[in-house]
Amino acid sequence: MSRYWSPLVKSLTPYVPGEQPKITNLIKLNTNENPYGPSSKVLEAIRSEASDNLRLYPDPNADTLKQTIADYHSVDKNQVFVGNGSDEVIAIAFQALFKHPNPLLFPDITYSFYPVWSDMYQVDYQTVPVTDNFEIDVQAFKQANGGIIFPNPNAPTGRLLPLDQIKLLLEINTDSVVVVDEAYIDFGGESAIALVNDYPNLLVIHTLSKSRSLAGMRVGFAIGHPDLIEGMERVKNSFNSYPLDRPAQAAAVASFLDEEYFQSCCQKVIASRESLTEALTALGFEVLPSAANFIFAKHPEHDAETLANQLRERSIIVRYFKKPKIDQFLRISIGSTEECEQLATALKDML
Ligand code: PMP
Repeated sequence: MSRYWSPLVKSLTPYVPGEQPKITNLIKLNTNENPYGPSSKVLEAIRSEASDNLRLYPDPNADTLKQTIADYHSVDKNQVFVGNGSDEVIAIAFQALFKHPNPLLFPDITYSFYPVWSDMYQVDYQTVPVTDNFEIDVQAFKQANGGIIFPNPNAPTGRLLPLDQIKLLLEINTDSVVVVDEAYIDFGGESAIALVNDYPNLLVIHTLSKSRSLAGMRVGFAIGHPDLIEGMERVKNSFNSYPLDRPAQAAAVASFLDEEYFQSCCQKVIASRESLTEALTALGFEVLPSAANFIFAKHPEHDAETLANQLRERSIIVRYFKKPKIDQFLRISIGSTEECEQLATALKDML
């Protein structure tokens, strides 16, 4: 700690992301990346920008990308905000939309970045317990003149809140901003983007890191009412006028134009999730129903941390959380078919 730090910096407890080990022969199932790389069309688009073009600043408005996303999701371009990964998009939503008289609400079991941003941007917050089945109880989220944020499917549980429940949440919260973080929605959920034209207080955030295999590129976006987007643009332009670098803009556009590849990757991940769930259930694990590209599972007789350490000795990395309610769960990202089979075999051997 330095005496030159501001009081705010002294009070922060930053988020610690999952490990990114340098060793390449590990089976890495700890940060919910896609086991399949980006499509060849995306790689081609990146290559064409990784050229003399890098002399030039990127489009500060990301017009082509915003129009591509708008067309893809059947909204107007002024309903689209883009940023460096959805983490940045969410951080900007915290700054632009959440400082209201009443606190921000989010589930007690959820993405652990939310309390970090709340502290950083000095947003008051309260957590709302999930049910015993780790579901979000919409009725517990009534909040006048404040804000609500949650991932759907939730992280790290993978549990999905159906669209009719999100509608109900919006109906009982007409004067609070409701942000749905849909980082994992493409793996089995129905997107709330379909509701943005009916609810001016709804913002839906997506990432290209998971279903579009671009975690290394950093692209995320939000869709909502033009007024919400304008507020976020004000914040963004007050600290950095270039949302995304040139290769990232080109890669993202190319990804939306290659629907077939995108769908086939999602289908493969979903199929692997279902067979891994079956394999782990057969080994005695309790596996929560997941609509994401990971599963959340616990074994009645084996401690999660011990299992994770034993898997690591076999070069397989999974995640566990030293947090109340979930400390006995492993969060396992869905890898390729072979990686999932190797994980199941290792666990069978260990138990
Ligand atoms: N939201 C949730 C729920 C996540 O799990 C993640 C990934 N850690 C993100 C947002 C951020 O993803 P990215 O910044 O790669 O878009």
